[in-house]
Amino acid sequence: MSVERTDILIAGGGFAGLALAVALSRVSDGGLAVTVADAGPLGLPDAPGTPRQDADPRATALSGSSRRLFETLGIWPALAPHAQAVSEIKLTDSPLAAGVRPVLLRYDPTLTDGSPGMLIVENRFLRAALLAAARGAAGVRLAPVTRIDGAEFGRSHVLATAGQGRSIRARLVVSAEGRTSLLRDAAGIKLSRQAADQIGIVTTVQLLRPHAGTAVQHFLPGGPFAMLPLPNDRACITWSEQAEFGNGLLAADPETFAAALNDRLGNTWGPARLDGPRRGWTLDLFHARDLVAPRLALIGDSARAVHPIAGQGLNLGLRDVAALAEVVIDAARLGQDLGSPIVLQAYQQRRRLDSLSSAAAFDAINRIFSNDWLLLRTARTAGLGTVDRLPVLKRWLVGEAAGETGDVPALLRGVRP
Ligand SMILES: Cc1cc2nc3c(=O)[nH]c(=O)nc-3n(C[C@H](O)[C@H](O)[C@H](O)COP(=O)(O)OP(=O)(O)OC[C@H]3O[C@@H](n4cnc5c(N)ncnc54)[C@H](O)[C@@H]3O)c2cc1C
Repeated sequence: MSVERTDILIAGGGFAGLALAVALSRVSDGGLAVTVADAGPLGLPDAPGTPRQDADPRATALSGSSRRLFETLGIWPALAPHAQAVSEIKLTDSPLAAGVRPVLLRYDPTLTDGSPGMLIVENRFLRAALLAAARGAAGVRLAPVTRIDGAEFGRSHVLATAGQGRSIRARLVVSAEGRTSLLRDAAGIKLSRQAADQIGIVTTVQLLRPHAGTAVQHFLPGGPFAMLPLPNDRACITWSEQAEFGNGLLAADPETFAAALNDRLGNTWGPARLDGPRRGWTLDLFHARDLVAPRLALIGDSARAVHPIAGQGLNLGLRDVAALAEVVIDAARLGQDLGSPIVLQAYQQRRRLDSLSSAAAFDAINRIFSNDWLLLRTARTAGLGTVDRLPVLKRWLVGEAAGETGDVPALLRGVRP
């Protein structure tokens, strides 16, 4: 049996796992040994310029603080050419058949320092940039096609197994495994689940008219329909529907699918032309009851899966990354055990409240808006109308969406801890 030794094992080389590897490398100047194990190849298949027939057609709405994290980690120059700044967010709430869609709430997400509070980047570019940065990060080893299939959590270390007699021994193991986490289950961490009975449909379109940086969230009874602007007047459509109807749309022929999409997009920018594959995500939502267990920390979707309504899932995951990197580097500088209960509790304390309250808020927004009850429609119209008339409240909303409120870790403020 071969045993690899490392300081920190990150199980999962998705967005959160790769970002954490780069962050740990940067804050420790390569002084920590970090191994990233992913069940997939971790190659560079999605390099910019490759054809768009990608398995993940999603685009991510990055908050201002996530952008700052990427700047501090030196990843932003690879992303900037592919990022679309959002100049205005419009929320609308009218029946599908309505000819006119009055805007309930409209705001400019630009931050007080003039920098964009929201930027949209296609996931293929995000993944390529993170992979390239992780590959070049001092102290980081990428171990592709390594599915962690078990772990023994000991007093002084954790021993993770990866099949074929391979093991990795680490002082701390981080589960960045996404929604299905073997390590989370192995450590006995329970989930609070919330079945949404919705699926998220995602595709890319070419708009007929310039979007000028406008992002739209149109609330419909089946679920929210979002248009996220991309460079060159393309847009990523992120569209939630009741599961049965949504699965039918995913299986429909391109003409039927495009017609349903254009009905929801309306005629301000459409009719739009399909410009990429479509894919669906089951939106089963949960939150882990604990973010840590002995020698284990959860980050990203392993810690919680939130509704995409606010485009905040990865932004929350990046806040985990920044907070964990900060507590780990503090411990390393003090010569403490990186996986000790003190370090893990410090991480949990920094992240639990923000994580739980955000997940609950996104779920509540989705429930309030995903129905067609006239009384509720009137009440929510009144509610957003109030927000629209209160500039102070709007500015707070902008700050919240940009990840600028509460306990903001140093890396998200653009500061190296
Ligand atoms: C429709 C939709 C739209 C979204 N839009 C936005 C948005 O606009 N803004 C935003 O911030 N967020 C958004 N999100 C959320 C965001 O996509 C997720 O939060 C993010 O992808 C989670 O990243 P992750 O690295 O935690 O997990 P994942 O991306 O799921 O990565 C997990 C990785 O772990 C690997 N893995 C799993 N198990 C093991 C194992 N045992 N051993 C080794 N490797 C393993 C997998 O191969 C995978 O590479 C959206 C989500 C959906 C579904």
